[in-house]
Amino acid sequence: MNKRLKLQCWNCPKTYFETLDITDKQEVIVKCPYCNVEAVVNLKPFHKQSKTMRVFRGENKDAQSDEEFQFPDVLPTRKRE
Ligand SMILES: [Zn+2]
Repeated sequence: MNKRLKLQCWNCPKTYFETLDITDKQEVIVKCPYCNVEAVVNLKPFHKQSKTMRVFRGENKDAQSDEEFQFPDVLPTRKRE
């Protein structure tokens, strides 16, 4: 699943849009278009754990494919180690 997200660079710290491939991976590597520094986006805090339960109860019929994640307006990034 690809999702366009707004990220905040840990280094400059400007914000920019990046289309991320959201998978089972917990972390995604991105590169800031302004200062060209690599950054790590941690997706784990935005994963909604309750999805399985809601699907099981049949209350999730109209849910979109990105229902599993709930992202803030701007995602923080951190330095790649
Ligand atoms: Zn930057």
